[in-house]
Amino acid sequence: MLVTGTEILQDAHKNNYAVGAFNVNNMEIVQAIIEAAEETNSPVILQASQGGLKYAGVEYIAALGRLAAEKAKVPVALHLDHGTDFDQVMLCIRHGFSSVMIDGSRFDLEGNIAITKKVIEVAHAVGVSVEAELGKIGGTEDDIVVDEREATFTDPNEAKKFVDETDVDYLAIAVGTAHGVYKGEPKLDFDRIKTIKEKLNIPLVLHGSSGVPKEAIEKAVS
Ligand SMILES: [Zn+2]
Repeated sequence: MLVTGTEILQDAHKNNYAVGAFNVNNMEIVQAIIEAAEETNSPVILQASQGGLKYAGVEYIAALGRLAAEKAKVPVALHLDHGTDFDQVMLCIRHGFSSVMIDGSRFDLEGNIAITKKVIEVAHAVGVSVEAELGKIGGTEDDIVVDEREATFTDPNEAKKFVDETDVDYLAIAVGTAHGVYKGEPKLDFDRIKTIKEKLNIPLVLHGSSGVPKEAIEKAVS
């Protein structure tokens, strides 16, 4: 069944587990993810990246994702990954996405808060949940390139202010993971994850997890 991101992530938040979010570009990938989610009896998030939207088009991705979600025996959210601007987020909501990310991490704190609030006002009015990003996650994801020297970790106090002012549903934080292929072993800042989690009390999102050792992912989740 198709559900919001909040429905899936609030349960994970309360019961201390994580949920996988996987980029989808075509039917076969969608089928494989749903099959695995059903086999493991796990909720799952299907997400469209900027590259996926460019490749398949919003209509195709939305139709595939919605159909897969409706037929699935587990809860499924259809999510926009790294939404670039207000218009793109609105387009995805119109096509039936149940969760959207507005990535305002290229702006300063006030700018990021402003764009996130604007998206949330509309998204929440129609029952769609919203992810934002604070701090800069390094690496390359489709069109978005952040030089590793420019990647900055999320400041816990800024994160608290951000969540208080925006009322965002879940927050992507920068704690040492990167998008794309890792050149060396990624070092996650577990203390920072703990501090931020204690301050915020909302679900946190870890981007760039492919290539991070299983043990590190497990520790981050715990
Ligand atoms: Zn990402």
